[in-house]
Amino acid sequence: MTVYTPPGSADSTIEVKGQYENFIGGDWVPPVKGEYFDNITPVTGQVFTRVARGTAEDIDKALDAAHAAKDAWGKTSITERSNILLKIADTLEANLEDIAVIETWDNGKAVRETLAADIPLAVDHFRYFAGAIRAQESGNTEIDNDTVAYHFHEPLGVVGQIIPWNFPILMGVWKLAPALAAGNCIVLKPAEQTPWSILKVMELIGHLLPAGVLNVVNGFGVEAGKPLASSPRIAKIAFTGETTTGRLIMQYASQNIIPVTLELGGKSPNVFFDDVAAQDDAFYDKALEGFSMFALNQGEICTCPSRALVQKGMYAKFVPDAIKRVEAIVQGNPLDTETMMGAQASNDQFEKIKSYLDIGREEGAKVLTGGEVVDLGGDLSGGYYIQPTVFEGTNKMRIFQEEIFGPVVSLTSFTDEEEALSIANDSLYGLGAGVWSRSAHTTYRMGRGIQAGRVWTNCYHQYPAGAAFGGYKASGIGRENHKMMLDHYQQTKNLLVSY
Ligand code: NAD
Repeated sequence: MTVYTPPGSADSTIEVKGQYENFIGGDWVPPVKGEYFDNITPVTGQVFTRVARGTAEDIDKALDAAHAAKDAWGKTSITERSNILLKIADTLEANLEDIAVIETWDNGKAVRETLAADIPLAVDHFRYFAGAIRAQESGNTEIDNDTVAYHFHEPLGVVGQIIPWNFPILMGVWKLAPALAAGNCIVLKPAEQTPWSILKVMELIGHLLPAGVLNVVNGFGVEAGKPLASSPRIAKIAFTGETTTGRLIMQYASQNIIPVTLELGGKSPNVFFDDVAAQDDAFYDKALEGFSMFALNQGEICTCPSRALVQKGMYAKFVPDAIKRVEAIVQGNPLDTETMMGAQASNDQFEKIKSYLDIGREEGAKVLTGGEVVDLGGDLSGGYYIQPTVFEGTNKMRIFQEEIFGPVVSLTSFTDEEEALSIANDSLYGLGAGVWSRSAHTTYRMGRGIQAGRVWTNCYHQYPAGAAFGGYKASGIGRENHKMMLDHYQQTKNLLVSY
């Protein structure tokens, strides 16, 4: 067991400055208007630093730097770009422990997760796209004896990227790695709730890229995000965040006729069939673990399995066993490696989740476990802690239909496959889903029938770089991860040559 000391404290090796600037053109640049905003750690609810409050003027500066770097970066050889990505991965890996603590302090998530998942996945992502760009094929076609169609990949140029607060580093890297590999320059705007960890990463990796290739401007949505997303100087906008914001991003992009990638909200069904309980074996145990995964990252995951559907034949056995598993989740100091569930990322999010605990009760759902906030005492008293909560109800309730984005699962039962599919698809969203059964026929049929971009089958919450990820319906447009992402950051040039 390790309990890390808070960054910036006397015994921590992690430096926290009084204020942080934007990273533009390879330098730390103060905001044009000279304003800074408070960065609060959700671990204690205290302000721990201040960060540049970027505006349209700072976005413009960053776009200037990106455009100045664009031609040279776009012409670097694939080998060179690939090697730089590998160096970035090595640097992140060499500093993994510190970066994990930094992410925990900024976001509130348990350090055991940042150590084991967030940062290793970020490292792997850079390595994956370093390899993918080398292996990319262009496909030339012999049209007839005298005519050949040659295809070339070209970078888009300068792209905008806007990310949320739930996985500040990983959501950033999901966007950065393919865009850089494909030869684009970037202006990235992190979320205002978690601006610090990406800046700490830039302190480590900024010098590995030519000046202006990757620029980070912090600030609020309308003040900094909108000028970026609506700028006629970007060739694409990639956005992860709420569905309501995604609609605005599409509107801005339509003015400039540029492509969008939207990774938006979710309300993912996790479906458990009777045969799961056929034996009390490792498979049954894995399924119980799969049920409890709604609490991973404090439920602040777009694919949170926030609707559990359990078949009637095993309901009386499975549900009490699943509740026991949920009640064994250790809540505590996020900097303690024993802690399984940390703090919600911000006070706003904390209040939003609390309001849904009230809504669930008001609409008649039964609390099977949890349902309360937690006071962890001492310095942690000011942090944002909520119990993992299981509601039992019906799919028409708001707690089944609306994204809570917290450690709350809404549980209901079903009779057969047809009903399970109909409940699973009765949602505005279509991002993730889980299906659990010992029958390959059942999992295949359900997996194909559920309208979602990712259906985990007898597992949940793995995010390998090589598996395409993205939403159906209001959960988004486009995909992330997988080598197909390179296409999303490139133009295809065709030379049709007559010999
Ligand atoms: P949000 O939409 O409020 O903010 C996301 C980002 O957009 C922030 O950087 C914010 O500053 C910026 N923004 C806000 N308004 C803007 C505007 N008008 N123009 C330009 N930028 C603007 O979302 P959030 O609360 O930070 O994140 C939570 C949401 O993200 C949830 O709905 C979650 O499901 C979703 N999410 C989706 C995925 C996915 O891959 N599909 C992954 C993580 C999170």
